[in-house]
Amino acid sequence: MDRGRAVNLSGAEIRGDLDGRNPPIFLPRQPAASPLLALDIGGTLIKLVYTASCGGGGDGAELRFAKFERRRLEECFEFVRAEGLLRCNGTRSSKQNVTLKATGGGAYKFADDFREKLGVCLDKLDEMDSVVSGANFLLQNIPGAAFTHMNGKRSPVDVSPNNLFPYLLVNIGSGVSILKVTGNRNFERVTGTHIGGGTMFGLAKLLTGCKSYDEFLQLSQKGDNFVLDLIVKDICGELVCQKQGLSTSTLASSFGKVITSKKNLTDYKPEDLASTLLSAFTYNIAQIAFLVASLLGLQRVFFGGSYIRGHKSTMENISYAIDFWSQSQMQAVFLRHEGYLGALGALMSYGDPSGEDRTLEESQEKEPHHESAAPVDGTSADEENDSNIFPYLLVNIGSGVSMIEVIGKGKFERIIGSHLGGGTILGLARLLTGCSSYEEFLELSQRGNNLSVDLTVGDIYGEEGYPKIGLPASTTAASFGKVNSSKLSEYKVEDLAAALLNSFTYNIGQIAYFVANLSGLKRIFFRGAYVCGHEKTMDKISRSLKYWSKGEVQTTFLCHEGFLGTLGAFWSYENMGIDGLAAHEVIREVLLGAPYTGQFPSLPLTQQQENGENTTLEGEVESLRHDNAVLKAEVDRLQRENAELKAYLARSGEAATL
Ligand code: ADP
Repeated sequence: MDRGRAVNLSGAEIRGDLDGRNPPIFLPRQPAASPLLALDIGGTLIKLVYTASCGGGGDGAELRFAKFERRRLEECFEFVRAEGLLRCNGTRSSKQNVTLKATGGGAYKFADDFREKLGVCLDKLDEMDSVVSGANFLLQNIPGAAFTHMNGKRSPVDVSPNNLFPYLLVNIGSGVSILKVTGNRNFERVTGTHIGGGTMFGLAKLLTGCKSYDEFLQLSQKGDNFVLDLIVKDICGELVCQKQGLSTSTLASSFGKVITSKKNLTDYKPEDLASTLLSAFTYNIAQIAFLVASLLGLQRVFFGGSYIRGHKSTMENISYAIDFWSQSQMQAVFLRHEGYLGALGALMSYGDPSGEDRTLEESQEKEPHHESAAPVDGTSADEENDSNIFPYLLVNIGSGVSMIEVIGKGKFERIIGSHLGGGTILGLARLLTGCSSYEEFLELSQRGNNLSVDLTVGDIYGEEGYPKIGLPASTTAASFGKVNSSKLSEYKVEDLAAALLNSFTYNIGQIAYFVANLSGLKRIFFRGAYVCGHEKTMDKISRSLKYWSKGEVQTTFLCHEGFLGTLGAFWSYENMGIDGLAAHEVIREVLLGAPYTGQFPSLPLTQQQENGENTTLEGEVESLRHDNAVLKAEVDRLQRENAELKAYLARSGEAATL
């Protein structure tokens, strides 16, 4: 490797426009003559950080930033050539000698393309190491690099090296990586989620037809998520909410209104769809970040990755959610150069001999295979004694998800909820596949292959996967992250259904695992119309729990008596200590998901709302439609039970006569 090239970061500062996006960083002691270039080739974007002359013939150089879509690798090559970024000491080098620092999966997958088309070798650096180095560099060296964004106000965060560590770093790229950072070279990748930027943008292309991320963000600004989201008021009505002290605008189920509406995808405005997508995914990521930070006892959570893209609503939503759930005990902090953490980290390794031990191949630690998780872990009622089931976590999957800690008979407390529940799965399934029932959706998913839309670790890194953090090639890196086209008709409904079922059930399993862990609970019982009796859903949730908890948490499904005859291995509601969840309490307990629904906490009223036109009536109709659907489902269930009971009686009658 070329040790002669080094980056001198001392005295680094941002000059000029302090509020601009990705402003150049001035390096007073870096020679301008031989440019340095480092790349972060991720699942969606290629990020470049390079040094360039500041012009005017003065000393020093500046760090500049550029990005390209990963599928446009040729454009990236063209840019590197045009900017003369392969020059060495002012002269064009012998190409053979040029080695570029590169991180991200594409550094492995595209190494040959770089050699063949650009004539350079890639010195590959571990992605997590680079992201952490980049974040630490910005936080410790660049005044004004970090800021909070809440209630419409952006405030700089003073980070001095003595109050920086430990912190949680949530890097939201195509998927999400969550790292606990305890020092300059000390960190641990704690977890991640496959529901990230790739998922949101993939679904955005399919649902809104948008072609670029900026177009999507702009659409979301003009939209109203109340059109598709089910909020507490839609279900309880305003009066009940007032009586129970609930916030009427609390998000109960993202996309939850779609199920009871007669509208098709084309009847919805792209703006409203975009707004719903942004809040659904942003809250989910913020919630996972909050749960992980709580588990680790960390108060400061830094958010990076191109998902944020300096977008105000995204940052507002994350900040508000973290503040709400943590009761103001945690703070969400953002970074000006949020998308370039990995590329900056890679650039810093020029001339840093310790960077040599930061390559991917080093560690071969293996973790359990995502897909090799065990099948349904149904615990037989006979195996357990009623008295020792407490304490446990009850996860109720309705339109939204509610998580309740049950410590004894009649003693329970709601801990948290998720707005990505059954209503979200079925709502999105309706929009994407046109299916009209949950059964139809499950049936579709059975025949589908999620890999045609999901982005795997193998798609990003190649067939070796990412062994250092235990991610084999087959692991889903970003659900829907492979969706490139904005034409829904180009995708098979079966594949979309399979990807939907996977992504959301794994998400519920992951959140349930964190919540159980946080409360020290080893047993989780699931119940609700979207799980009970649906073997495919139960199987996915079990696999998910087995994967996340490494087999330490016991997963059981609580099905109504009617199902016991057919499945045999599931608990009944009896003796669970939850008889006290009376009807109104169920509503109260079950529906609370994300903290609020609007783009901003104090979302201004629309003209229509201000004039009082129709909104109450529309809301009332929507609410009645919803009640109607719930009642219909209840009637269906009773009819099914009735038939089962009849069959059972007939059988026992036969037995008696024998
Ligand atoms: P990766 O390293 O996985 O490519 P990034 O940190 O670059 O991750 O973030 C990629 C995500 O950022 C996308 O999934 C999308 O949500 C968002 N994004 C921001 N800008 C763009 C863009 N120009 N094109 C596509 N996605 C973008």
